[in-house]
Order: sequence, then C-alpha cells, then structure tokens
Amino acid sequence: MNCRESQNNLMDYLDGKLDPAQHLEMENHLASCTVCHGFSVKARNALELFKNEKTTEFDPFMLTRIQASLSIHSTAMQHKSTLLGVLQPVLIGIAVFIIVFTGIGIGRSYDYQKSKTRDYATELFYLSEINSGNYESVLPTE
Ligand SMILES: [Zn+2]
Repeated sequence: MNCRESQNNLMDYLDGKLDPAQHLEMENHLASCTVCHGFSVKARNALELFKNEKTTEFDPFMLTRIQASLSIHSTAMQHKSTLLGVLQPVLIGIAVFIIVFTGIGIGRSYDYQKSKTRDYATELFYLSEINSGNYESVLPTE
C-alpha cells in the first residue's frame, strides 16, 4: 500500500470498515510511514473530538438558567428603554439647541470678520508691499 492509498482508506480504517486484509495492509503502512502515521493520529484525535461533542448530554437545568438570565436581561432592557425613551427626545433637543446656537455663533463671527476686512485699495497696498519683499508691514499687529 502506498501513501495515496493509505490516505484514501484512512477514514474507513478509523471507522473499522476495511476488510481484514486491507486493515492489515493499512497497519503495516502506518507502522512504516511516519507521514501517514502522523496523519492518522491527527485524524483519530479529530474524530474523537467530534464523538465527544456529539455525546455531550443535554443539561435540563441549563435551559432554565438561560431562560432566567434572559428574563432578567429583558427586564433590565425594559427599564433601560423606558429611561432612554424619556431621555432621548430631551437629548436630541439639547443637541439641536447646541448645533443651532453654534451655527449662529459661527455665522456672527464670520460677519464680524467680514466687517473687519480691509477695502480693496488697502488689499492692493498690502499686495504691493508683499511684492516688494517688505513682509513685516503686512504681518498682523494684533
Ligand atoms: Zn505513507
């Protein structure tokens, strides 16, 4: 038996479904081939893991505990949602208030800056100063 045949027969071998001659051939190959032997050990471990998973017994008290936990959670959620239901409109109102007044404030400061803007002649003067390399005179004095 070569490695490919061994790996093709591995699951049947582990399930005990091979005929005695094939079973013996398989055991001989696994005894002589470290690669297939390692593979068979991993496969056997995986199968046992699945078998243990399948045979885990159902715990009737687990369901009761889960239900109790869920009902506690849902009661807490109801309290929370009642509180949130009252607070949410208030919070939204406060947020809208803050946003509107921030906007008004920004708008006013923009108007204020615009009123401080120098006229066109003054701008030309500063531009010509910059062109002549006299940067100090155009720097803000405030
Ligand atoms: Zn092999």
